[in-house]
Amino acid sequence: MRIVIIGAGLGGLSFGACAARDGHEVVLIDRNAEPGGVMTLAREGGFSFEQGPLILTDLREDEPVGAFLASLGIHLETVRDDRGLSTPDFGLFPPEDYAGPDWRKKRLEELFPADRKGIRAYYRFYDALMELRFLSGQKKSLSNKLRTLRAYLAIKPYENMNCREFTEKLFSDERLRLVFNGILADFCADPEEVQCFTLPFVNTETAFDKRIPAEKDGMLYYPSYRYIVGGCQKLPEALCAYILGRGGQFLSQTVAQKVLVEDGKAVGVRLDDGRELAADLVVGCGAARDFFTGLVGEEHLDDAYRKILRDFRPMEAVFMLHLGVDYDPSVFQKQSLCYYYGSYDLRGAVEKLRSGVYHRGEDGYLIYFPDRHAPDFAPPGRHCVTIYTVCPDRLRDGDWESRKEEYADELIRLAEARLPGLSAHIVAKKIVTAEDYRRLTHMKKSSFGGTVPVWKQQNPPHLTPVKNLIFVGQQSENGGGVPIVLLGALEAYRQAGLADGGGRIL
Ligand SMILES: Cc1cc2nc3c(=O)[nH]c(=O)nc-3n(C[C@H](O)[C@H](O)[C@H](O)COP(=O)(O)OP(=O)(O)OC[C@H]3O[C@@H](n4cnc5c(N)ncnc54)[C@H](O)[C@@H]3O)c2cc1C
Repeated sequence: MRIVIIGAGLGGLSFGACAARDGHEVVLIDRNAEPGGVMTLAREGGFSFEQGPLILTDLREDEPVGAFLASLGIHLETVRDDRGLSTPDFGLFPPEDYAGPDWRKKRLEELFPADRKGIRAYYRFYDALMELRFLSGQKKSLSNKLRTLRAYLAIKPYENMNCREFTEKLFSDERLRLVFNGILADFCADPEEVQCFTLPFVNTETAFDKRIPAEKDGMLYYPSYRYIVGGCQKLPEALCAYILGRGGQFLSQTVAQKVLVEDGKAVGVRLDDGRELAADLVVGCGAARDFFTGLVGEEHLDDAYRKILRDFRPMEAVFMLHLGVDYDPSVFQKQSLCYYYGSYDLRGAVEKLRSGVYHRGEDGYLIYFPDRHAPDFAPPGRHCVTIYTVCPDRLRDGDWESRKEEYADELIRLAEARLPGLSAHIVAKKIVTAEDYRRLTHMKKSSFGGTVPVWKQQNPPHLTPVKNLIFVGQQSENGGGVPIVLLGALEAYRQAGLADGGGRIL
């Protein structure tokens, strides 16, 4: 079967790798010179920086992403790490001497004695959800069924609550609510929009201290958070090399302009230079609305799919500032990655994002040291610093290009409170705005991580109303993220019916 894939981001590459493995002919098309979409690197003055994902789950070879890669013979070197969290009043950083898996719980009880009962209830809820996550991958033995029932009963009282209701029920102090809800602002989600069962998975304790074992009773139990040594781009590079090694093609710096549809069936792709590629199956990704209204044509969709396209909500953008520095900033920030929240008003922060108001770093920002895991990113004796914030895709007042220098200066000023002397040590600077991301991802609206994880929201399904047309990538998944996009593409491949001998037309 000849499969033409529009977009060599993680979604397209993962689908393509499955197809190449099973002997299909794969043609990848991407507007960029390198494969990977947001996982490609930004470069400036001899430094390299990651523009997309930083810390990833599921990469161990006994976890689904790592296992899939290993099945293709791809073995990426990874290293566990953790992240710090700071609020305007207190920080939650792993203690110098390891204090056990529940140090955050104890620290929160010390900080918020009036909420001790709620904190304990939260961690019982957390334990039950982690248990359910673990058991979902185990044999359905009688004892596992009983364990599942016990864990389910522990979370049942909360099943109809959103994150705001849940955290208000448990915690009287808004500062404590921020500890767990804060990450939702990154997704541009109001705590009211997200089911409370999401909270433990976006606040897994292993993410906050790399010494907390991922194993329990000798079995892998919790997700572990890892960096890819040498940088995240190694993952798309390896997938692309695998596809090429199996006879696939990568048409780089090429834009797909139209999906050719005949009698309700995708039959090929027209490129921007007018060439037409015949295909037995076409795979699209990226911005769902751009893809289906622009490349496919809404007339080929049905009402149900059109409604999903109209209703689902993509996330907003990020403003990224990459700096090359001639000193070692990691003496001031122990973790490679730290979230610095500046406000407790998450709803206000999300409203600003949605209405085009940029908070200039005041609602929060993140500092990341990419060369900790990828020493080649910086010349000898120098280091990389990435500072970034979530931001609106379009500014209500002005545009990104004309304001980016001013906004970058503000981020440097804020970050200097964490990394003293920063501004005097900058030797290279690269600013990446929402406009740059729109170009990189070929989207009319930049949306950094996929779709807002709104409770019960339906995202564009992989199987589309057009026969032989599949949709993959971050906008087909709730919440997005590397493991979800990769595993989603594998699921799309399964749904396409290609794994069972290849060639079944949908
Ligand atoms: C700043 C940032 C931080 C992130 N942090 C994390 C993290 O810490 N952990 C995590 O798990 N995930 C994270 N993510 C999310 C994760 O990286 C993405 O969800 C995932 O990489 C998206 O892959 P994709 O294939 O859907 O899309 P993309 O990476 O956008 O790739 C799509 C590709 O298709 C190309 N394309 C689209 N249409 C066309 C066309 N018509 N013609 C030619 N080419 C086309 C685009 O140019 C692009 O190269 C982050 C993302 C960003 C941006």
